[in-house]
Amino acid sequence: MLKELTSNLAILITCLFIYSQLTNDSSLRTSSSLRKKVITGALAGVLSNILMQYSMHFDQTIIDLRHIPLVLVTYYGGGIPSLVALLFIIIGRFFISFGESSLLAIIFIVLIALAALGARKLNRGRRVKIFLSLTASNILFTMLILYLISDTGILLPMIPSYWTISYIAGFSSFYVIEYARENQRMMIQFKAESSTDALTGLNNVRKFDQIFNSVSEEARKKDERLSFLFIDIDHFKSINDTYGHKEGDEVLIELGNLLKNAVRSFDIVSRNGGEEFTVILLDCPTDRAVQIGERIRESVENHSFLLTTGETISVTVSVGVACYGETTKSPEALLNDADEALYEAKRTGRNKVCVA
Ligand code: GH3
Ligand code: MG
Ligand code: MG
Repeated sequence: MLKELTSNLAILITCLFIYSQLTNDSSLRTSSSLRKKVITGALAGVLSNILMQYSMHFDQTIIDLRHIPLVLVTYYGGGIPSLVALLFIIIGRFFISFGESSLLAIIFIVLIALAALGARKLNRGRRVKIFLSLTASNILFTMLILYLISDTGILLPMIPSYWTISYIAGFSSFYVIEYARENQRMMIQFKAESSTDALTGLNNVRKFDQIFNSVSEEARKKDERLSFLFIDIDHFKSINDTYGHKEGDEVLIELGNLLKNAVRSFDIVSRNGGEEFTVILLDCPTDRAVQIGERIRESVENHSFLLTTGETISVTVSVGVACYGETTKSPEALLNDADEALYEAKRTGRNKVCVA
C-alpha cells in the first residue's frame, strides 16, 4: 500500500512542478479569467485521473490521492475550477467501475470539494486552510473506508498510512506551488525593476538603450523620421541646495508625471540620469518635435511643483531637439546632436527649446 501511495505522491509532485513551470506568469487565482479557471480545473481533473490509474485495489474499492488536486484547485481558484475537476473525477471513476463503491466514491469526492470550499472561506492563514481541507478529506475517507471494508487486518494499517501520506502529499504539493509562485513573483518584480527608474517609474537608461536601438533600426528600415528630445532641469543644483535632496526628488517625480502627460501615448519617456530626461518621438518631423518640446517647456514653467512641506516652487527646463532624416543623418548621432542643442539652450538663457 505504501508503494502505491508513494508512486501517487511522486506523480503528483512531478505534474505540479511541470505545471508551475509551464504557467510562468499567470497562476490560478480567484480573479483569473473563466477560461483559465476551466482549463486549470480540467488539468486538475486529468491529474486526479492519472492518480486513479495508480491506485490500490481492494475488491471494488480503489484508494489514491485523487483528492489532492481537487483540494488545491479549490483553494486557489474557488468554485468553478473545483466543479470542473470534480466532473473529470466523476467521469473517470465511472470508467474504472460502476457500482456501490463508485457511487459512494463520488459522494465522497463531492463532500471533499464542499469541505475545501468551506475551508477557503474561513478567515485563517493559508496553511490552516489547507490543513483543514486535508483533515476533512481524511475524515471523510475514513468514514467511507470503514463502511466499505470490514477486515480490520486491512483497516488497521491502511487508515494511519493514508492519513500520513495524504498530509505529506497535500503539504508538499502546496509547497511546490507556493515555491513556484514566489519565484514567479520575484522574477516579475526583478524584470520590472531592471527596466524602470525607481524614483519616477519611467524607463531607465538600460531600457532606454534597448528601445532606442530597436526604434533606430525601424526608422532606418522604413525610412521614417525619428525625433529626439533631451530635457534638463535648469539650475536643479540650487533647488537641491535650497530645499534639500529629498525635495529635489519630489520635483523629479512630478516632472516625470508631467512629461508622461505631455507626450503622445506611444512616445517613449525615460530618465537618462540625475535630472536629465529624454523623449523619443516615433515617426515625427522636426517641426512637430519642436511643438511637443515647447509644450513640455511651457507646462513645466506653468506648473506649481508641490514640496512635501506644502510649499510650491517653480521650475524650468531646457530642451534640445534633433530629428533623424532632417537635422541628423544617422540615428546614432541623435543623442549627440540633441545634447548639443540642449547645451545651446542652456548657453543662450535656459527655459527654451533649441534645434540641432
Ligand atoms: P543647469 O541649468 O546648467 O542644468 O544647472 P544644474 O544645476 O541643473 O546642473 P548641474 O549638472 O550642475 O547639477 C545637477 C544636479 O542634479 C546636481 C545633483 O546633485 C542633482 N541630482 C542628480 N541626481 C539627483 C537625484 O536623483 N535627486 C536629486 N534630488 N538631485 C539629483
Ligand atoms: Mg544635467
Ligand atoms: Mg540641469
